[in-house]
Amino acid sequence: MSSVMIVDDAAFMRMMLKDILTKNGYTVAGEAEDGEKAVAKYKELNPKPDLVTLDITMPNLDGIEALKQIKAFDPSAKCVMCSAMGQQAMVIQAIQAGAKDFIVKPFQADRVLEAVKKAIG
Ligand SMILES: [Mg+2]
Repeated sequence: MSSVMIVDDAAFMRMMLKDILTKNGYTVAGEAEDGEKAVAKYKELNPKPDLVTLDITMPNLDGIEALKQIKAFDPSAKCVMCSAMGQQAMVIQAIQAGAKDFIVKPFQADRVLEAVKKAIG
């Protein structure tokens, strides 16, 4: 069973993702509400999650910075970005920094699952 760590500053978004993922056979390895906590949580998790979903706009450390720090710590980490409409420039930066894919809010379950499946392989 593949495990996913969910990172978003909005509790509602985390809940939605968790719901979609757990109903489709994934385990949630952990959650974080900002980039700083996400990096710390990723470092602490053992085993590492198969995938991290990273919101872009978050307090303390944004999703792009968190992605860079997670990838620096573990180059094999797989991350999918969650972006809002109009964040194309950020999404391109994230892909360049090693993100596997992105999901645009509001989430559609099919699209979430497609991105997760594709990223985990
Ligand atoms: Mg946010």
